[in-house]
Amino acid sequence: KLAAGEYGAEQPGRVVAHFGRTLEVRNSDNEPVRCHLRANLDGLVTGDRVIWRAGQEGSGVVVAREERDSVLKRPDARGQLKPVAANIDQLLIVFAVEPAPHANLIDRYLVAAEATGIAPVLVLNKTDLLPEDGGELGKLLERYRDLGYPVVRTTTATETGLDELRSQLEGRTSVFVGQSGVGKSSLIDLLLPDETLRIGALSEDSRKGTHTTTTARLYTMSRAEVADGDLIDSPGIREFGLVHLNEQEVTDGFIEFHDYIGYCRFRDCRHRNEPGCALLAAVEAGKIHPARFASYRRILDSLDS
Ligand code: GDP
Ligand code: ZN
Repeated sequence: KLAAGEYGAEQPGRVVAHFGRTLEVRNSDNEPVRCHLRANLDGLVTGDRVIWRAGQEGSGVVVAREERDSVLKRPDARGQLKPVAANIDQLLIVFAVEPAPHANLIDRYLVAAEATGIAPVLVLNKTDLLPEDGGELGKLLERYRDLGYPVVRTTTATETGLDELRSQLEGRTSVFVGQSGVGKSSLIDLLLPDETLRIGALSEDSRKGTHTTTTARLYTMSRAEVADGDLIDSPGIREFGLVHLNEQEVTDGFIEFHDYIGYCRFRDCRHRNEPGCALLAAVEAGKIHPARFASYRRILDSLDS
């Protein structure tokens, strides 16, 4: 293996950001390299793992893209789903004590996460505003923990729960999503305190050019005492989860339904009031929480309209 940056060497890298056909790639030493795309390559997104070859004057050429583990898509201006980030390990779904999530918002996010195949993590922020006994949200969170979802509680002002959040992010590539006002910026500011590291040398001068960076960017979290973790962020990515879902995705997205869904008497059962419905029987038997089933119904009804 030739040293990073050495002329002619083919080496692995990861896309940090892209500005038209210019890419910022991170080499295996975590250093930024400005790269151009080989003509036959297209559609690279932040987070892509690539092979690049060093050229003159410290820049490089991306010659290949590696297979993606996962892709996050967003509708473009014409409503077509386009990849915006790749190789994400987990979606941090942030909600807050205030503004409190309405009844089926968390379920909607979980369904969207399950549909992309990216592992969801629930983050309850602003726990300083919780009542002593944990309130309704405290009870709600226990239900999700029982379903097997990781749950982290945070307060940004006192940095409560921040170490737990950091260990959840360690060694993985994460994305923060959630409604506006829940505290995503506050959390990210705490995780990436170093402003120079956030902006990065290469994107700094690109920002002065014609390409303003509304595209996603990969940030490296590194602190002396913990291993690295990566964060991909952009205003568009934060809105993930509010995309259109279809009926199959909604049904698949309620993970505790999987044990029952194939066992209804009728193969085309829609789990409304059909006799022999295994889902309704599971709710009746206390195996599925009635609130989750009600949420499922409400989300399906919202698709019909
Ligand atoms: P974003 O829209 O999700 O990025 O949310 P922001 O990070 O901009 O936060 C929205 C508001 O919530 C700001 O006024 C923050 O100061 C406030 N906030 C963030 N975290 C906390 C917290 O843990 N507790 C309380 N009480 N307020 C918070
Ligand atoms: Zn059924």
